[in-house]
Amino acid sequence: MTDWTALIRDVPDYPKPGILFKDITPLLADHAAFTQVVDELGDGLAFDKVVGIEARGFILAAPVAYRSGAGFVPVRKEGKLPSETYEASYDLEYGSATIEVHADAFEPGDRVLIVDDVLATGGTARAAVELVRRTGAQVVAVSFLMELSFLSGRDRLPGLEVRTLLTV
Ligand code: IMP
Repeated sequence: MTDWTALIRDVPDYPKPGILFKDITPLLADHAAFTQVVDELGDGLAFDKVVGIEARGFILAAPVAYRSGAGFVPVRKEGKLPSETYEASYDLEYGSATIEVHADAFEPGDRVLIVDDVLATGGTARAAVELVRRTGAQVVAVSFLMELSFLSGRDRLPGLEVRTLLTV
């Protein structure tokens, strides 16, 4: 077992002054750490598809899908997916953001695991849950590498299994 938590780097004042950014790139560059977190994100859960949220969620969700024999589905920022989409918007500190999924990404009744790197306010994950549900698929769990617990993002995901590998 590797202590991968030491491989998450704090970057002050990124992307804006006053924000302490959690940078996972040193963790991704370490094979033992990367495989361990990929294993833990999906272990013991049963699912047919894994959703990755653009962009860092893609890096974690794709190997979870590969390892589990599941399919991978990207949830992307507005305007990036080529075919028909559903969209969901959520509030940011200033303004709002929209994410999309292909309308035909899931089979009816698919069991879906949503994966992202960081759970902060929960707005992004909440919108991803709404998108999956709108397609008729079922969210079985939401897994994150890290939870910033002081932002209470979990409260926006009631009734869902929320797995976080590290709480800060
Ligand atoms: P939320 O919607 O406020 O929960 O923010 C979560 C989204 O913002 C995720 O997609 C993260 O990738 C990103 N995010 C927020 N804070 C950080 C951070 O400190 N490091 C890396 N990503 C972050």
